[in-house]
Formats: sequence, structure tokens, C-alpha cells
Amino acid sequence: MTTLPDAKLYIDGKLCDATGGGTFDVISPWTGGSVGKAADATAEDVDAAIAAARKAFDTTDWSTNTEKRVALVKKYRELFEKNRARLGELAVHEAGAALGAVNRAHVDMALDGWDDYMVVFDKIEWELDYGEKPAFGMIHKRLGLREAVGVVGAITPWNVPLYVNIGKVVAALLAGCTVILKPAPDTPGMGAIFGELAKEAGFPDGVINVVFGADPALAGEMLVTDPRVDLISFTGSTGVGKRIMEQGAASLKRVFLELGGKSAKIVLDDAPNFQMDVAMSMLVFHAGQGCAVHSRLLVPKSRYEEAKAILKGAYGQFGDNWGEVDNPAHIMGPVVSKRQMERVKSYIDLGQEEGATLLVGGNIRPDKGNGFFVEPTCFVDVTNDMRIAQEEIFGPVLVVIPYEDDEDAIRIANESSYGLSGGVSGSHDRAMNIARRVKTGSMSVNNGMCIAGDIPFGGFKASGMGREWGVEGIEEYTDIKMLAWPVGQAEPA
Ligand code: NAD
Repeated sequence: MTTLPDAKLYIDGKLCDATGGGTFDVISPWTGGSVGKAADATAEDVDAAIAAARKAFDTTDWSTNTEKRVALVKKYRELFEKNRARLGELAVHEAGAALGAVNRAHVDMALDGWDDYMVVFDKIEWELDYGEKPAFGMIHKRLGLREAVGVVGAITPWNVPLYVNIGKVVAALLAGCTVILKPAPDTPGMGAIFGELAKEAGFPDGVINVVFGADPALAGEMLVTDPRVDLISFTGSTGVGKRIMEQGAASLKRVFLELGGKSAKIVLDDAPNFQMDVAMSMLVFHAGQGCAVHSRLLVPKSRYEEAKAILKGAYGQFGDNWGEVDNPAHIMGPVVSKRQMERVKSYIDLGQEEGATLLVGGNIRPDKGNGFFVEPTCFVDVTNDMRIAQEEIFGPVLVVIPYEDDEDAIRIANESSYGLSGGVSGSHDRAMNIARRVKTGSMSVNNGMCIAGDIPFGGFKASGMGREWGVEGIEEYTDIKMLAWPVGQAEPA
């Protein structure tokens, strides 16, 4: 039986238990049993973390000493490299990553993203020359200075915790901010390791702090409402994102939100490999728990029956090859929690009530163990107004919607409150035209990969605001200050 190391808080340069010594169990999605203990941060702990981050920002040279920052962030990266195996173990036993998925979305992609940040960091312009302009009879020179925003509260979800924690913490540190990382209660260990390795790397006290607790909202709400925190960088559900905007308004908090999605993949009738495009749309990787997954598959009405047969065959071939914790060939494990399993099942029941047809799956699978197993599920005969087509299920549930023509496909893709990602496959020019018209933060054309650490990622509409990764992802944590000074008489007009 696996036991993960105790997840400790990290406050003002010290790894610590919660005040009062409270802990909570870390639950394995594979067994439903405890795999470790995590400190249950109190309000006092969160307050201490905010105070430490504020002090480090206000009283040290962290925000201005770029050389020191980059050297420490590089050292930090090396320590994460040395801990690859442990990162993988955390992804498996906290987030329910299957072994065949660990070294893609969970560890490799996250660490690659970090390396990309180090490369794009050099492209950031810290001083911007805005040239000269006459005003009040004088010529004025103008200079923009890019400065770190200040104290960042980074609130993260459980689905790809390493990836999202790196996306925020590394960008904020490179920008010169100090950080309080607040991971989800399901994945405290993937947060705690940021504290442990920060201590080992020798970051100045207070520059990085990590707090978590059994209560999903306590620490996050304190960060959002505390005037000592300058910016909230949040990844999670749209509902919590809206609450953060509301609660942050009182202190005019800068908020940067990466939220949910219900992205559409459009397969055109002239897709070079129609069969592969449809078959690859099965929503099984990490049990469909990805914000950017294409959970609506749009296929032409003229080829709908063919698409159904392809999917039936693909799911049949995938079969029961999922859900074993020690099987390196498996890319799908359980969903993260009992709550999530029940939520996904309630959507499967709803789909049937709404009149959609189950092509495959639809069941919870206790035969796979005491963990939270939902089988790969696919609904056909779905219309875009059904709730299973509009709401984010965040599980292994694909909905397949027929469309008449290109205009209809674009309409269906856009008739969503979300706009995070999407895809279109077909002849290049036609697919490009469609990609330009879908209102979404990223769009894969013929399965092009638009998620990488050197390009921006984020949402339109209810999928959020701001961009993570790339130069833009670091600039989110900066502000521009303008300086201007007179340099001589202006020519009379
Ligand atoms: P969630 O919104 O329930 O929780 C996210 C984080 O917010 C957790 O740390 C949680 O403890 C904290 N939180 C909960 N209530 C809070 C409150 N009132 N104030 C402040 N913080 C609070 O989301 P989740 O279930 O952990 O993650 C799944 C969601 O995340 C999905 O909607 C998914 O689409 C989204 N997600 C988005 C992206 C993206 O980049 N757009 C990436 C990954 C996940």
C-alpha cells in the first residue's frame, strides 16, 4: 500500500504543521482510502503566509534583482527534475493519473512548460521606449517600466496539479512577485512539494508560501478578500471564478481566471482521415478531467451513422483496458473523488432523461475497486441545447452532435457559454476559415497542438480572462509604470 509523505505547510521559509496540529486525510482515487496526511491550515496560518509574502515583497530586493531570481528559479527547476519520480507518484495517488498518462499531461508537459518559461522570459521587455511627444510647448520623452504586481494568491485545482501550479508559481516568481500557493484539498502533496523544494533551493523567506486545508474555500477566500494580496491567479470552476470576482471587488483585486470549458471538435466531411479523427475523440485520457478536452464532437449529419459505427468500434477496442493503478499501458484511471464520481453519474442519468442515447458506457464500476471508477461513456442523438451539451461534466463522457453544414457547425460550436479550446479537421483552407470563426481561446486545426509552455493559453467568455504560459503568462504578473520628462522646447505650431 502506498503512503505519501506528510504534506506540510510552508510559511515564511519554514516547513510547518498547522497551528493546533490539525490534519486531514489525502484520499486515493484508486482505493477510496487514505494515502497520507496533510496539515489542515487555520485562518492564523493563512494570515501568517500573507504577512510573510507581503513583507518579502516590500522589504527585500526580490522584485528588482532579476539575476538572483532567475538563478534561484533555475535551481528550483533542477530540484524538481531530481524529484520526477515523486511527482509522478503524487499525480497517480492524489490526482488518480493512470501510469500511461503520468508522463504526458502530468509531469513531462509540466516540466517542459517550466523550461519554456525560462526561454520566453528573455523576451520580456522590462523597459519600453514610447518615444517623444510635444505637450505644453515642451518635448517629452516617455519610458514605460514593467514592474512586478506584488503579492500573488495562486489558487489551483486537482486535475493536473503540477502543470497548473508551475503555470502560476514559476511565472509569478520570474515576474518578481511573491506567492502564496493554495492547492486543492484533493492534491495537497503536489502543493507541499513546492514548499519543500523552495526551502532546499534557498529562496528568501516569504517569497514562496504554501497553504492548504480540508475546507476548499477557507484559505482561498482569505486570499481573495485580503487587501495585502495584489493579484489572484485562479484556475478552477467557473462558479468559483465568479465568486472570486465578486469577493475580490471589495479590494479591487486584480483577478486572472482560467476556468471551465465545453469545447467542440468539428470533423468536416472532407477530413483527410475522418475515421481516425472520430475515433481519437473518445474522451478517456485522465478520465476526461481536462479543462481543454473536446467534450462535444460535431460530425456532419450526412456521415453521422458512419461516425457512430467508428466510435462504437473504437470504444470496443479500448474495451476494459483502463483502471489498473500499476498498468503502464493504461491512460485512464478513476475520477478524482466520490463527489466527482456522483456528479458525473448524475450527468449520465440526466442525459438519458433529456433523450440522448447511450452509445457506450454509462455506469459506475465498483468491480474495478473501491475507488471512483466511471466507465468510458458516449452519448449520441444529442442536441446542443441539452444540459449534457452545455455544462461541463469533467469526466469520461463524450457527447456527439450532428450538424448540417459549415455554418451550422460554427453556430453549434459557438452556442456555448464557454470558449476555452476546440478543434476542426478537414481540408486546410476550409478548416482554417472555421477555426477563425469559433469564439474560443485556442483551436487545433487538423489536430495541431496549441498547448505548450511558450504560447499563451486561456479562455474567452465564461472560460476566463487572462493568459497563462508564454510571454503573456509572465506579463500577467506585471504592471506598467510610465515615466516622462521634458527634453527641450517644442517647435511652435
Ligand atoms: P474548483 O473551482 O472547485 O476549485 C479550484 C480551487 O479553488 C481549489 O483550490 C479550491 O479549494 C478553491 N476554492 C473553492 N472554493 C473557493 C472559494 N469560494 N474561494 C476561493 N477558492 C476556492 O475546481 P476543481 O474542481 O478543483 O477543478 C476543476 C475545474 O477546474 C473544472 O471546471 C476545470 O475546467 C477547471 N480547470 C481549468 C483549467 C484552465 O486552464 N482553464 C485548468 C484546469 C482545470
